[in-house]
Amino acid sequence: MLIVPEREIADLMTRAAAFDAVEKVFAAMASGDAYNFPVVREAIGHEDALYGFKGGFDRAGLTLGLKAGGYWPNNLEKRGLINHQSTVFLFDPDTGKPSAVVGGNLLTALRTAAASSVSIKHLARADAKVIGMIGAGHQAAFQLRAALEQRTFEKVIGWNYHPEMLPNIEKVAAEAGVSFEAVDLPGMRAADVIVSITSAFAPSLMADHVSPGTHIACMGTDTKGKQEVEAALLARAAVFTDEVAQSISIGEPQHAIEQGLIAESDIAQLGAVINGTHPGRGSDDQITLFDGTGVGLQDLAVAAAVVDLAVARGVAIEVDF
Ligand code: NAD
Repeated sequence: MLIVPEREIADLMTRAAAFDAVEKVFAAMASGDAYNFPVVREAIGHEDALYGFKGGFDRAGLTLGLKAGGYWPNNLEKRGLINHQSTVFLFDPDTGKPSAVVGGNLLTALRTAAASSVSIKHLARADAKVIGMIGAGHQAAFQLRAALEQRTFEKVIGWNYHPEMLPNIEKVAAEAGVSFEAVDLPGMRAADVIVSITSAFAPSLMADHVSPGTHIACMGTDTKGKQEVEAALLARAAVFTDEVAQSISIGEPQHAIEQGLIAESDIAQLGAVINGTHPGRGSDDQITLFDGTGVGLQDLAVAAAVVDLAVARGVAIEVDF
């Protein structure tokens, strides 16, 4: 069995490798070659922690396993550790024997950024020039870095509930040589692409803050009750997601469906667009919306890719098991 510790991931994994792994596994999910197992998430009654498992099997990529982990809210203050903690376990699908244990913290950030980036590649207008960011926390910097690689963006505009955090994304724009402007929410009408990545439980982006032809990637809503955009926006848009079952229960569509504004059958898998079985964007004026809820197969795909890179570089630790 191989071990790839968290400390090795930053030097091994690239945004391009994460993008490739996520694009392939979304395609495999849409063609029925890969499926996610039901998610387990429990409040364990210790340290206020939420702990759970996200797993799946990709018959095309032959990736089987799970990500175990969750959220320990006291880690940073009490122990100087990050609050989100996860580890990926991979198994040999031919024998069931464990094949690898991989640090999952940085990989989670990279696979989430890759998902919105894949959606921009397949759904945004080719001539998109202005990208709008809603959110400026830890994950927002990863999302923006990956998104900027998908089109020749000339400007980043940003809004955040806590404006003092905006320098986090301004820095990413500066590193990429793109100008940055803080805007109010109606100012998002200037954006061709919008990425939303907040922990909000009430909508910030309203339907009339979005111009025709915009592509929106909603990445923050991954739990029942969370919401980043007005439900009416989903009724105005062509809606895509990573996995429909997860999207309607814990993603943005939970609210639009509850309000009777859209039906489950209105939501398409992004993988179908990648595979060419769904046409994707219908016109230059259409609003497209990708709801990225985060699936276990994304974690397995990037973990499998990093194991290959670790083996090639000779940094995977081999243990008898
Ligand atoms: P963070 O704590 O670093 O940042 C939180 C962000 O939400 C900040 O920009 C903050 O200003 C904003 N925010 C807080 N309260 C708000 C409110 N009431 N209204 C609007 N904005 C508000 O967290 P992070 O690591 O950047 O993660 C952001 C979200 O993304 C989390 O909710 C997390 O669960 C989610 N996430 C989703 C996936 C996925 O695959 N979809 C993966 C990782 C994280």
